[in-house]
Parts: sequence; structure tokens; C-alpha cells
Amino acid sequence: MIRRRTALALPALVLPALAALPRPAAAALDLPRAGLAQGGFVAGRVPPGIALALEGRALRIGPRGEYAFGFGRDHGPQAMLSVTPPGGRPSRQRLAIARRQWNIQRLEGLPGAMVTPPPETMERIVREREKLAALRRTDSATPHFAAGFRWPATGRISGVYGSQRILNGEPRAPHLGLDIAVPTGTMLHAAAAGEVLLAEDLYFTGLTTILDHGHGVQTLYAHMSQLDLAPGQRVAAGEPIGRSGATGRVTGPHLHFGLSWFATWLDPQRVLPPGAGKGAG
Ligand SMILES: [Zn+2]
Repeated sequence: MIRRRTALALPALVLPALAALPRPAAAALDLPRAGLAQGGFVAGRVPPGIALALEGRALRIGPRGEYAFGFGRDHGPQAMLSVTPPGGRPSRQRLAIARRQWNIQRLEGLPGAMVTPPPETMERIVREREKLAALRRTDSATPHFAAGFRWPATGRISGVYGSQRILNGEPRAPHLGLDIAVPTGTMLHAAAAGEVLLAEDLYFTGLTTILDHGHGVQTLYAHMSQLDLAPGQRVAAGEPIGRSGATGRVTGPHLHFGLSWFATWLDPQRVLPPGAGKGAG
């Protein structure tokens, strides 16, 4: 009986004290700083019931509070994250996005424009671009990305994220992946666990595999010589997915490795453990 009386008496005592406490949302979400940069990837966990939105876009929260987002190569200096506690009101957290220096190569006095592909090739390019755009909208529930990423192959870094060529004053599309120089036939490994979204021959990237790691996070493996997996198959982290090559529009054998969060290409080197890539050419 004493217990019950105490319990009944509690609200009157506790409520004013609670009201005086700062709102839970006032405490800013502690974000891994390394991801807050152009090309950066941010993954973490929030306590149960917290909702997140980046620039007004609701983020999927995993069963253990997992979330992920990223910033493109040309992202501006700020982003707005809204954090909503259970039953509470959203608080806005302004994120400072570090600006990075990109490797820009200016080449002048080159022979004229590239050859325009024939109409049937143009149709193929457009069709494939639309298919890839649709795949990148995949927002699957299992947060495989939360376990981190590993190198899909070991070799010299022959091309970095963000680099760009300006030919005769005309900027070309920036390079939005990581090139690892490996001989044709080198076994490639899944950078994280996930599900195969695509495994087929594409015009630009040749034999290509795309893995879905949940919440819009995907990795892409281009210019392969052999595809070992089919769409819908599940892979474990580090599992072989096929072999490297020089298929598609390339000048030599290498793996082009891409990391994306929905439509945004991110810098794979920022999520990979240091060491496995040799050099930084
Ligand atoms: Zn590349």
C-alpha cells in the first residue's frame, strides 16, 4: 500500500521537474566528423524512436537505430539535419560540410570533339542511364552498411574521386569513383554484405555489378571480365563477386569502384580502411 501511495504521489512531484529539463532534441546528434565533407558518407545509430531528416528528406532508421546519408562532390558548405525525439518536436542541426580540393587537369590544344555515337548507341546509353537512376532509388530495409566497408581488390590507386579534366576549356564529367589498377582476371570481393541489384553488360561501365547495402547505400564494380552473381542473390562481406577486366569504355584493365547514397556518388576512399590501396597516383 505504501508503494502504491508513493507511485500516485509521484506525478505531482516529477512533472514540474521534467518540464524544467531541456528537451531531449536540444542535445545535438553526435555525428562522425569524417563524413561531414564533400563526397563524405555518414553512418551511425540513434536511440529508439528518434526520427531524422536531411534537407527535409526523411531518413530510414534501422531496427537498431542505424541511419546513413552522404554529400556529393559539389555540395555547398552547409546541410540541415532535423532530429525529432519520440513525441517531441524537431530540432534543426546545421552541419558544416568541409570543402575539398579536387585534382583538376587542364588540357589545351587537343583535336576536336569526340565522335558522336550512332543513334542506336545513344538509345542504349539513355535506356541504361534511366535503369541505373531507377535502381539508385532503391531504399531497402536491412542496414548492411552499418558493418563498414572493405577493399574490393588490392592494387595501385590509378584514379581518385572528384578528379576532372578540362579539355580545350570544356569541363568533362568529374570522376566519381575510385580506380584500382588490377590485371584482368583479378578476383573482386563484395565491399560489404548486401544483395545484387544488377549484374550485366553496360555501354560505359562494361560488365557491371551493383550491390545494395540498405537505406540507399550501394557499391558499383565496373569494367569486369566475369560476373559471378545474378540480381536478387545475397552476398556476404568479402565474398567473391566476379573478376576484373577492361570491358566498357576504358583504356586499360582496372576496377572502377563506386559508392553511392541514392543518386549521390560518394568518395569510396573515405569509407575504406587505410592501407589496402597502394600509392595515390
Ligand atoms: Zn573510374
